[in-house]
Parts: sequence; C-alpha cells; structure tokens
Amino acid sequence: MYKTLKEMDIKGKKVVLRCDFNVPIKDGKILDDNKIVASLETIKYLIDNDCKVIILSHLGKIKEKSDLKKNTLVPVAKRLLKLLTSELNYKNIHVAFSNHTRSNVLKEKVDALKEKEILVLENTRYEDFPNKYESNCDEELSKFWASLGDVFVNDAFASAHRAHASTVGIAKHLPSCMGFLFQKELEALDQNVMNPEKPFTVIMGGAKLEDKIKVINKLISKCDHLLLTGGIANTFLKALNINIGFSLYSDNAELMQEIKQMLLDYKDKIVLPFDAIVGSSYDKEYTNYKTIDKIEDNEIILDLGNKTMEKYKEYINESKTVFVNGTAGKYEEEKYSNGTKTLLNILNDSSASVVFGGGDSTASVKKFLPKNNFTYLCTGGGATLDYIINGTLPAIEALKGEEEYEILDI
Ligand code: ADP
Ligand code: MG
Repeated sequence: MYKTLKEMDIKGKKVVLRCDFNVPIKDGKILDDNKIVASLETIKYLIDNDCKVIILSHLGKIKEKSDLKKNTLVPVAKRLLKLLTSELNYKNIHVAFSNHTRSNVLKEKVDALKEKEILVLENTRYEDFPNKYESNCDEELSKFWASLGDVFVNDAFASAHRAHASTVGIAKHLPSCMGFLFQKELEALDQNVMNPEKPFTVIMGGAKLEDKIKVINKLISKCDHLLLTGGIANTFLKALNINIGFSLYSDNAELMQEIKQMLLDYKDKIVLPFDAIVGSSYDKEYTNYKTIDKIEDNEIILDLGNKTMEKYKEYINESKTVFVNGTAGKYEEEKYSNGTKTLLNILNDSSASVVFGGGDSTASVKKFLPKNNFTYLCTGGGATLDYIINGTLPAIEALKGEEEYEILDI
C-alpha cells in the first residue's frame, strides 16, 4: 500500500514535490490556474512543516526547439508566488526558479534552500529534447532528481497515467508518498465511480468514441443507466441505422459491431437522444430543431434537444450517483451550448453526488456554472479515464514499490 502525506515523516526535510501544473497558457498568460490552486493544500502543509520544497512539473510537450520557450514554467512559478501570498497569506514566502533541470548549479541551489523556501524547476519535459529522458523514465535522470531531496511527494494525479522519470522513476529511489490532491482525486473516483452508491447513472458525451469506448465498456455493467450525448451518441444512433446526416461519428467497422452488440446486451440501460439542435454541412448560420428520425443528409447533430433533456432529467433525479464525461454538444459555440448548460443545471439541482471527469467536461462547468454544489471535478483527464479502465495507474504502483532505497552518490 502507498503512504499518504500525513503518514510520512517530512518535518524539516527536503521534499521533491511533483505537481501537475500543465495549465493552458496563451501568449505567456495563464488561462486557467485551477491546477495550481488545487496544489496549494499540499504546498501549505509542506511549508508549515518547515520543508524545503523542490517542485517538478511538466507543461505541454517538448518535441522541437521552439517548444522550449513556449512551454517554460516561468509564468507558473510567478502565479504560484502570487497565490501563496494572496490565497495563503504567506507574505514573505520565497519562490526561486531554476532554469536548469539537471546540473551542478541546480544542486547548489537546492543545497542553499532554507526551511519554508520553494524552488520550482523548469519544465521536466525540457529533458525530452533532444532525447526523451523524462518520458522514457530514464534511470540516470530519475536518480538525479531523487538526489535533490530526502522524500518524494507525488501530487500530480493528472500525470499519474504516465510512467515518466518525474512520476514513476523518482519513486524508486526515495521514500515516497501521495499528496493531498492526488489522494482527493482517487477518493472521489473510488467512492463515486468505482464503488458508487446506486442507482448509478453514467453520462458519456464529447467527441471521439474511440477514446471512450473502454471506459463505457468498464462502466456499463456497473451503472443502472448510461445516458449518451454529444458525438458519442451519434455512433450509437448510426448503429441503429438512423440517419445522422453529416454528424461526427466513428467510422470503424469493428467498433460499430461492438456498439451493435452493446445495444443488444444492454438495451435497458442505454438511453439515446431523440431530438437535437442541428447545423448544416454547407451553411454556417443554419440551425434547426429536429427529432432524431427527421435528420436530413446535410444536417449535423451539434446539441441535445429539450425533449431528450426532459427524459435525461428523470433518470438523473432518481440517481444517487452520477459520473459525467464529455459535453452534451459543441459547447464552445453559444448556439450549441444549451444542452450542456441545461444538463449542468439539472445535475446541480439533483440530490445525487455528481463527479466530472475530462478536460472539456470540467471546463464547461467552470464556464457555465462556476458556483455549483457538485461533488468533485477531477483535474486529470486521461489519468481519470485510465484509472477507471485499469483500477490503478503507473504512478500509484510506483508509490507502492517495495524497493530498498539506495544511498545516492552522484
Ligand atoms: P472531455 O475533455 O471532457 O473528455 P471531450 O473532449 O470528449 O470531453 O468532448 C468535448 C468535445 O466534444 C468538445 O470539443 C465539443 O465541441 C465536442 N462535441 C460535443 N458534442 C459534439 C457533437 N455533437 N459534434 C461534434 N463535436 C461535439
Ligand atoms: Mg477534451
């Protein structure tokens, strides 16, 4: 079993903390700092326990030289400092930044850290260019990062599906534990998705069925109702030989066969839309309301219709737990966002525990219903889905590791 932060002796120690600060940044500006805010609880605990905190995180991908400048963690370190002073009231907190990810200069900076000081390292994926040391979990790199601290705390649930040096490699070389955010995400999923109180309703929507079919397969036997929305529903409609016109769907024969079988095996659980807001393949301005049996060849299903929503409301209102992944329509466009908004309000008004997993699903909550009483919004997109599919993640297994901790001398 892995250790939690509360179970770990960290008082006054040098702590290597892996966060997931992979936030959206445009022209150097952070568009959504939720992931940084979410990590504050763990950082506060470490500071209050007189730790010297060395923070690692990735940001985007580094495939070519031009990605280096684009994906620097400097704006994140600045925002962290701002949040520590404004949100946590640490007026004299010291946050330093190292633009090296591996060097003797970095080691000296770490050695010079005082208690309650923070050092943020540059994007761990700088080590992916030109060789993929971080992503390939390079042993030397893992050892180097481990050599910076006495203890490893992993709080990056959203990166836990990746077996990288900073998520899995370090854990082999230091006493390790799970941070508060990581633990919270796992508990939310364990309680509301892996072992949900019934009736349990799953709402799957969004774009690509290929990305979600394994999750659907995993949850269909567990849930009482599977309500389908968005592009996901289209492939199911198509499998029933309903004309979906120009709508997005998965054109894969094997997948189609699987869906057909699923519709037979679980016909009492699967609920499909019966009306929609459609666009058109040749006219950007065109929108219309259609029942599903009346979709024309040039029309595109882009949002749920009101009758579908009324029906879905009945299922939601009799549920004790609801898991939502993917949006009900093309919510980025105002004229196709009504289904997503209405569904959010129905969920918020229901007495069920509601958990959201997925980048766009949680973004839609923040966009349309920032004040809500939902049970949990997961910060990990891919990690959330992989955890549901496999029941564990590489970084969780690494924290459980029973290896002896060697004394490092690099
Ligand atoms: P998450 O990130 O929560 O896992 P997805 O990325 O799967 O969710 O789904 C969100 C995306 O799905 C959005 O970009 C949205 O525009 C798109 N989408 C939803 N419904 C449709 C639809 N009917 N047709 C095309 N795209 C859709
Ligand atoms: Mg998405």
